[in-house]
Amino acid sequence: MKQDDTRYIFVTGGVVSSLGKGIIAASLGKLLQARGYKVTIQKFDPYINIDPGTLNPYEHGECYVTDDGCETDLDLGHYERFLNVQTSRNNNVTTGRIYQTVIRKERRGDYLGKTVQVIPHITDEIKRCVKSLGEKEHYDFVITEIGGVVGDIEALPFIEAVRQLKWEMGRRCAVVHLTYVPFIKAAKEYKTKPTQHSVKQLQESGIQPDILVLRTEHHLEEDMLQKVALFCNVAPDAVIQSIDMPTIYEIPPLLLSQGMDSTLLKKMGVEPGPDPELKPWRSFVDRMKRATEEVHIALVGKYVSLQDAYKSIDEALLQSAIYNDRKLKLLLVQSENLKEKDLEKKLGHCDGIVVAPGFGSRGVEGKLLALRYAREKGIPTLGICLGMQCMAIEYARNVLGYKDANTAEIDANTAHKVIDLMDNQKNVTDLGGSMRLGGYPCRLKKNSKLEQAYGKELIRERHRHRYEFNSAFLDEFEQHGFHAVGINPDNGLIEALELDGHPWYIGVQYHPEYKSTVLNPSPLFMSFIQAAIAHQAKTNK
Ligand code: GLN
Repeated sequence: MKQDDTRYIFVTGGVVSSLGKGIIAASLGKLLQARGYKVTIQKFDPYINIDPGTLNPYEHGECYVTDDGCETDLDLGHYERFLNVQTSRNNNVTTGRIYQTVIRKERRGDYLGKTVQVIPHITDEIKRCVKSLGEKEHYDFVITEIGGVVGDIEALPFIEAVRQLKWEMGRRCAVVHLTYVPFIKAAKEYKTKPTQHSVKQLQESGIQPDILVLRTEHHLEEDMLQKVALFCNVAPDAVIQSIDMPTIYEIPPLLLSQGMDSTLLKKMGVEPGPDPELKPWRSFVDRMKRATEEVHIALVGKYVSLQDAYKSIDEALLQSAIYNDRKLKLLLVQSENLKEKDLEKKLGHCDGIVVAPGFGSRGVEGKLLALRYAREKGIPTLGICLGMQCMAIEYARNVLGYKDANTAEIDANTAHKVIDLMDNQKNVTDLGGSMRLGGYPCRLKKNSKLEQAYGKELIRERHRHRYEFNSAFLDEFEQHGFHAVGINPDNGLIEALELDGHPWYIGVQYHPEYKSTVLNPSPLFMSFIQAAIAHQAKTNK
């Protein structure tokens, strides 16, 4: 397509939240990409925080980190995993960011003489963010997901901006609206009324959706789809149903089979051509369905009761299990209540253990117990960020004999701070966006398991932390066989530890899960799952 031909697709939601708008947006992006278009996806979040970095997982699930060091919504993780392209800070915009920019401009005098208002100043800034993403790198399609539900007070300026863009650009803009069709058990009936209401609400804001995606637990009959089309003023082929699927990876083929992308392209004045084969994607899904043998992985963390708290880790494990022809059996182990006497029962049957990232002291003692058990029993173990820091603490306490070893995050006064605050964090006062964030290079030690896993010496992975391994203790660790096998070549920070004489015991200060995608699984997770499978074979389970 020509330079000025970028097309903009908006994904809005109705009825209730948590319907999976991010997955629908990512799946649509995947289908357009498979047709040969250059696609990116962005998320607009209507809350006032500048970014989700200061929210805890109870509020917002996982915080996803981009390579350029932005803490973002977890939907960006779906976008990267589906499209296999990197996103950046420009792909996640919040109300807070919009207002911050507008207020800065006001102080600078950019609007001199004018009253600054939601319309046009806030809406103009939203429109600028939508368009600048498409223009900067020249994308054929920019998909913009609007967080929350249509009708939310805080989403109003975003919806108004979408209306204006549609008015300005005509067919170059389209709106996909995702709604929910509940099944009333007692009446044994599906109800389309909530969908009709939410479309009405959108229409009251001046927006006629182009495509409706109905989330449903069971198959909806044709006459019901026709009824929705008639009442909601959309073409019959523009009503798509998205039934609950065993995994999110089955959704792109599901939408393709109903012609969602071709219908949308036609609406936008683009000749769709033949349907894409989606070959590599389908072969991944087939492999997933064929896998019957299980690999049992325990994830030890304090947020295990929350579905989305460790999203990228869950997905990275799943992808690597599938590429090793295994069905992932993920066992969530709450670190907060973990007791010595439960270890055998909870972890003894596992093929591998992941110790999760985190902040603060809650659940750390449980992580330390799990790590001691895994280290002594020879169970393959991956420690991520705080998980790696816990590996160092456990080792210092139980092997080096420093019973008071800790991280300065929990005990700033201990004589054995094996994990300490990074120098450049010492003067940090504002907590938002001030951690060590984003992609950094890391040099791997030749012939280490880590180097073998990646198949190269220089890698780049993403970070989100304030504390680091205290290199004053490195000699002692190394003498006992716990080696630094990953070092930042620019500043010497220790990024990875690997234990001698153990089948697979590796801790990484970085987050390998952020870079694991469907078509490009993380080499570290691949190696971990292979070690888990080997452990399973050895223990004859
Ligand atoms: N709380 C630790 C730090 O800030 C670890 C962070 C994490 O696990 N993401 O260094």
